Amino acid sequence: MSKLRKVHVKSFGCQMNVYDSNRMADTLAGAGFSETAEASDADLVVLNTCNIREKAVDKLYSEIGRIRVMKEEAAAQGRQVLIAVAGCVAQAEGREIIRRAGAVDVVVGSQNYHRLPAMIARAQGGERIVDTEFPVEDKFDALAAPAPEAIAKRGISAFVTVQEGCDKFCTFCVVPYTRGAEISRPVEKIATEVVRLASAGVREVTLIGQNVNAYHGQGADGRPSTLGQLLRRLAQVPGIVRLRYTTSHPRDMNDDLIAAHGDLPALMPYVHLPVQSGSDRMLAAMNRRHTRKDYLDVIERLRATRGDLAFTSDFIVGFPGETDADFRATLSLLDEVGFAGAYTFAYSPRPGTPAAEMEGQVPAAVSTERLHRLQAEIAEAQRRFNASFVGRTVEVLLEKPGKLPGQLVGRTPYLQTVQVMARPKLIGSLVPVAITDIGTNTLFGALAQQAEMPALATAGA
Ligand code: SAM
Ligand code: SF4
Repeated sequence: MSKLRKVHVKSFGCQMNVYDSNRMADTLAGAGFSETAEASDADLVVLNTCNIREKAVDKLYSEIGRIRVMKEEAAAQGRQVLIAVAGCVAQAEGREIIRRAGAVDVVVGSQNYHRLPAMIARAQGGERIVDTEFPVEDKFDALAAPAPEAIAKRGISAFVTVQEGCDKFCTFCVVPYTRGAEISRPVEKIATEVVRLASAGVREVTLIGQNVNAYHGQGADGRPSTLGQLLRRLAQVPGIVRLRYTTSHPRDMNDDLIAAHGDLPALMPYVHLPVQSGSDRMLAAMNRRHTRKDYLDVIERLRATRGDLAFTSDFIVGFPGETDADFRATLSLLDEVGFAGAYTFAYSPRPGTPAAEMEGQVPAAVSTERLHRLQAEIAEAQRRFNASFVGRTVEVLLEKPGKLPGQLVGRTPYLQTVQVMARPKLIGSLVPVAITDIGTNTLFGALAQQAEMPALATAGA
């Protein structure tokens, strides 16, 4: 009966949503949907949402408004367009979404994507469906694997979710409520997925999870495996030349993972390690379960293992009760660590989280002013970090064509983008690039002689 053919999946928020969006598209492909990059072209629009900050929720409702117009225009021409809302807003708000935005047909929580084809079939018959239960079956087992063509289309760098959910309950954060308790996928299931990606041309894999270094999936011997052990296993997959992982919690940075940075050439010397604040008072109020000193100790242990490691972080300013002195402690932490970059956020109260009820909510004007000061310092730190590469030769993984004819874009081990003139057939290759200049968000370079590189990193310990 189905005339539905094209699906447009739009992702908001983090890399975990990008991964989920791909897996939803793979699963819908099995039900006869092909992916389209244009919402206007689609018979089914899936909005994969994020509710980490309030702005993200506002964005969703304005996006629904835009698609509702398309839906109405299509209906006037006798064509049915369905709208599905997935992800963390769907999980948190459930039926409220349909109440507030009547154009929405399906609301599907983050653990139920595998049921999407059945829900869509019912929605075609006019039913409104809300499914935000935490199911007993494993969604990863039930989701379809991507076809080789779909993998190739997504490029040579892929995300793989290895862990989901969070048991940490930072007082500002909705993740433990929307993604649920921490679960880890078994090592061999992840390895099978990575082998499949590699055989379709993927060269770099980033392991993702809300708390990725709390990973404790079942190993081949039936015992829980650490993230370090998982990385060692994946470093053996032929074709995978770079491994990364994100996002980590300072408390879960264990000895085994730190040692992996010393042992695995394929593991990139770059760690994103959110700290949120440099003030112990704020860290306690945030329930981060670590102090400033604990954080600095982790950085020191990592640097002792691999001297060329670079760090980025997440910061929240304007958390309830934050004083000027607390904020100055955050600024001084920047100097002490020497970050290569960071994401910065003004605290956004999330309903249902303890911090939303705390006294001492900081006025928006104060948060904004602190945010701008922090961002200026971080931008300068990032510029200095990038400038330190001029005159050096670095290994670049070439990813895709650049804006100019004959140009390719790649990434350094530190995730900086590099623009370089090179032949398209080098996409997917690791090449030495002599860095000649920096722009606002990118490095510029020229292909160097292979001989100039001391050693090209390859997978394996
Ligand atoms: N699990 C990671 C960690 O331990 O920090 C981060 C997960 S969260 C998806 C990404 C970032 O969003 C956090 O590190 C934090 O800086 C920011 N964030 C989370 N909740 C927030 C809130 N209510 N207001 C502002 N920023 C928030
Ligand atoms: Fe949220 Fe990260 Fe804290 Fe978990 S550890 S509650 S995901 S900020």
